[in-house]
Amino acid sequence: MATTDPAAEDLPPREHADGIRFDGVVKRFGDNVVLRELDFAVAPGERVTLIGPSGSGKTTILRLLMTLEKVNDGVIWVNGHPLSHMRRGERLVPADEKHLHKVRGDIGMVFQQFNLFPNMSVLRNVTEAPVHVLKLSRDEANERARGLLDLVGLGDKADAHPAQLSGGQQQRVAIARALAMQPKILLLDEVTSALDPELVAGVLDVLRDIATETDITMLCVTHEMGFARDVSNRVLMFDQGQIVEEGSPEKIFSEPENQRTQDFLHAVL
Ligand code: ADP
Repeated sequence: MATTDPAAEDLPPREHADGIRFDGVVKRFGDNVVLRELDFAVAPGERVTLIGPSGSGKTTILRLLMTLEKVNDGVIWVNGHPLSHMRRGERLVPADEKHLHKVRGDIGMVFQQFNLFPNMSVLRNVTEAPVHVLKLSRDEANERARGLLDLVGLGDKADAHPAQLSGGQQQRVAIARALAMQPKILLLDEVTSALDPELVAGVLDVLRDIATETDITMLCVTHEMGFARDVSNRVLMFDQGQIVEEGSPEKIFSEPENQRTQDFLHAVL
């Protein structure tokens, strides 16, 4: 299915263009309409968490942002650039690979499965992409990586291999690895789901530190309500491809108004 071709007058004003914006996004898999004319925005520096039942479309939103999937209709904007199109003068034309590469460069992602390179040291895991993609010198990349390993509390593990670390420590390396590319936006997909319960707190602490010490924009999908409450400034409750309620964590968790939010929280808390 072709995407819509937005006219030049649809371009948002530059000063409001940073962060993430979904405009009327429709995503289908066959007959299954997963996102129905979805509109939402995440402002620069904002930390937004998506909650809601399994199958409601949360991960699809992250996969669209990573250009692992394509919209059927509507436009996704990342830092003022439409994902599916690029500017040519005042016109928008379909994006080429170079454009997608550039837009994706602003986005870091951490998954449920940490996917570290098992045969490389922790330091090497964090420096590979900065050296090969950003063309940093090995020394610059090492310095950046050591700073980030300190930030995630693993300054003393630089020479260890992933198999020598706990799951929680591996996930903290994966967070450092994503941050080493200095993305403006960090996408987090169920980053604590694969961890034993006693390891979750360490990862949440790190994300809380990153949230307070950097102005990175975060969009998170989680089943961990503690995470949503502690790390985000805004929570979006999702059901059947639409936002049914949104607000501060205090509002959503203490005084949810929508029946579906109430039922969902009742089931998970
Ligand atoms: P959530 O993250 O909220 O659990 P998902 O975004 O993973 O939801 O999935 C939303 C819906 O899209 C589900 O019905 C799922 O089966 C469907 N879906 C997701 N990815 C694919 C795919 N690659 N092919 C077909 N259906 C998919």
